[in-house]
Amino acid sequence: MEPAVHSPLEEFVRDYVEVTGGVWDEVEPQVYDVLLPSAEGDRDVVRIAFDPEAVPEHPGAQLASFGTPLIDRLLSDAVERGRFARLYLIGLNLNPHDLAGRVRRALTLPPGAAVRIERVRALHFSQAVFWFQATFVSDQKEQEIVPVVLDLHYGRQVRHLEELLEPARLSETPSLPLPDAQRLSLAAAYPIARERVVRTLAALANTRGREQSEHVEKQILRMTRYYADLREELEEQVKRATTRGEDLSKFAGRREALEREEKVRVAELRQKSTLRVTVRLLLLLLVQEPKLLVRGAVVAEGKSLGALELVWDPLVEAVEALPCPECGRPTFGLELTRAGKLVCPACAAVVPPKGKTPHR
Ligand SMILES: [Zn+2]
Repeated sequence: MEPAVHSPLEEFVRDYVEVTGGVWDEVEPQVYDVLLPSAEGDRDVVRIAFDPEAVPEHPGAQLASFGTPLIDRLLSDAVERGRFARLYLIGLNLNPHDLAGRVRRALTLPPGAAVRIERVRALHFSQAVFWFQATFVSDQKEQEIVPVVLDLHYGRQVRHLEELLEPARLSETPSLPLPDAQRLSLAAAYPIARERVVRTLAALANTRGREQSEHVEKQILRMTRYYADLREELEEQVKRATTRGEDLSKFAGRREALEREEKVRVAELRQKSTLRVTVRLLLLLLVQEPKLLVRGAVVAEGKSLGALELVWDPLVEAVEALPCPECGRPTFGLELTRAGKLVCPACAAVVPPKGKTPHR
């Protein structure tokens, strides 16, 4: 016999029941008796079927499919339980070959300048993955999950979510106990993540809003035509009644009623077409990644032009852009100002006003 293949939903329910301390029994393929621990302490066996065709054969069985109250309840409870998690990236190479050469090649320095590495330390750098759930409500309801990943050391968004979440490299315990690198608190990071997700959602909402209003305009046009036809029919009746010399007073009332009805129905359509978007934070995962903090200086002719601190990311095997000491924007290029300060090329191009202090 071939091993049974379960649908993802079936796998989820089996896992959920086990993790929450319940019991399941597979009565026949896709039909289960499950015992769910409930908050009230009463435990009832529920028969559930993943196959709609099996339901009639099992009186009292509930269909388990997406959108049914039972599955909705289990899914939202599972999300509650996993609202926050912390995992460690393991198996990364913290001894990259020729780190000095890689640093040198990553940076563009003033002519004649070089990097002098003084100290390299492995530390845990926190990456926060925020999963936001956006709900778009108009005449229909749609949901979308939007992840935002922030590197908490620099407070920057990072794009390599897939590499970060590669299951083979994630562990509940670190491979090496390492101190944490300096980082933003989650409370400080949250507004940044939220601002990012709002930007993404605004673009999505605009597209949806446009599609929605085009769709509604078409419906309104159809409705307007329908009422025009009704009015035409009414006028035909009026014409006939006139030639027959009948009383025409009843037609005035019907004309008004038609107009009123049309206005109400068009207004209803417009109201339904209003797109509302709500956002909530669904899950938060903190991924602790060991990276190398490289400290040193930019030197020329044996003299230091300024201290240098940068980060080697072993996951993507690259030097991370460093924040410009002047404007804080990520940069790989450093240039000297007339005052002898190392700044990004954009900052070097402008003459800073007197007394300006660097902000990060
Ligand atoms: Zn700058």
